[in-house]
Amino acid sequence: WPSVLVDDEEVVSIIRREDRRQKYGLELIASENFASAAVRAALGSSLTNKYSEGLPGARYYGGNKYIDDMERLCQERALGLFGLDGEDWGVNVQPYSGSPANFAVYTGLLSPGDRIMGLDLPSGGHLTHGFYTEKKKVSATSVYFSSLPYSVDEKTGLIDYDEMETLARRFLPKILIAGGSAYPREWDYARMKEIAEKVGAKLMVDMAHISGLVAGGVVDSPFAYADVVTSTTHKSLRGPRSGIIFAKKELMGDINNAVFPGLQGGPHNNNIAALAVALKEAQGGEFKEYAKQVIKNSKALANALMERGMTICTGGTDNHLLLWDLRPLGITGGKAERVMEYCGITVNKNTLVGDKSAVRVGGVRIGVCALTSRGMKEVEMGKVADFMVKAVKMGVEIEGHMGEGGKKVVKVSEFARALGENEGIDN
Ligand code: PLP
Repeated sequence: WPSVLVDDEEVVSIIRREDRRQKYGLELIASENFASAAVRAALGSSLTNKYSEGLPGARYYGGNKYIDDMERLCQERALGLFGLDGEDWGVNVQPYSGSPANFAVYTGLLSPGDRIMGLDLPSGGHLTHGFYTEKKKVSATSVYFSSLPYSVDEKTGLIDYDEMETLARRFLPKILIAGGSAYPREWDYARMKEIAEKVGAKLMVDMAHISGLVAGGVVDSPFAYADVVTSTTHKSLRGPRSGIIFAKKELMGDINNAVFPGLQGGPHNNNIAALAVALKEAQGGEFKEYAKQVIKNSKALANALMERGMTICTGGTDNHLLLWDLRPLGITGGKAERVMEYCGITVNKNTLVGDKSAVRVGGVRIGVCALTSRGMKEVEMGKVADFMVKAVKMGVEIEGHMGEGGKKVVKVSEFARALGENEGIDN
């Protein structure tokens, strides 16, 4: 532990508990990963002290010689990792995270009220792709821009590209967005580019979840089709919490201006340094092996759950995540999430298409990036499936759905109270 922290017992004690939770639990949140010690060291470096509004070579503060070197290095590594030459593509590595990166693209390329079209949240899209409900414009994207989502087919769970085309022809969005937070299958970027061209839209791909898999060459790359590609850097890419925007050169000026001075102030230079470290790590052979193993593990986990009689949306996965449909078991995603948490297994509840309520959601989302970083392979996935099924069945039982004679035994909430919030973490 850094010596300065040793004097702050309260902070150290909380960090230690979280550290133990991560070590002794099974981390299966699809958007999480374990960054390397090198990435975390760069995050804690002196670069956190520096202000550097502007871009390399054009700053609003003095003293940025080395900060310029770092940001240029990070940009070069980002373009290099995805095989982009600097003639066609530019990159901005300053977004504070994925949501600001997406909002910067809209701010740079659209006027208020302009139309966008992305995957609906209950279908696996992200809030920043324009989510709203009948009652509320939930995401700022839907407050400042006009959004009409496309969705997945309720029977297959797959994106209905014909429906997307019909909607796009009627709605005429200026940006069509591919990518999501809970879509377990490949994207048809070629078809989406075709649709975008027909309606005069730009194609933006938010590859936040899969950027590490794109870098590892184990899922399709969007760069041959997209005009803009955004990403977080802390999911499958295994970097610090940050955001990144790639765009065709001619769009880059507007996007840069939207990032700063449009939306942000000084870049978080320690994050940029840590991202540079992660981008180099992702170029190595070990990372490529990791990316391959992520896919193997994800498929192995999906198969193991199905072999144990569980329902996996779309019948499997092409990437790092899967959606477990709990509706046949009669337990909500929320309760399954909680009961698994009491057993040291961390997943998150997830809406499934067809859910009647956003509160009583039907599924959980599971991702294998973090466990793969810990070195787990297919054989461990079988054991993980055993643990999860056991936990969820216990949840079903204590909810009374499968209790003796259909009797209610005890509510999950009572079970939780009896166990205490920290059970399974501290012991
Ligand atoms: N885009 C997608 C597809 C995401 O899944 C997420 C986060 O989970 C984001 C954007 C937003 O990223 P952040 O939470 O870093 O703002």
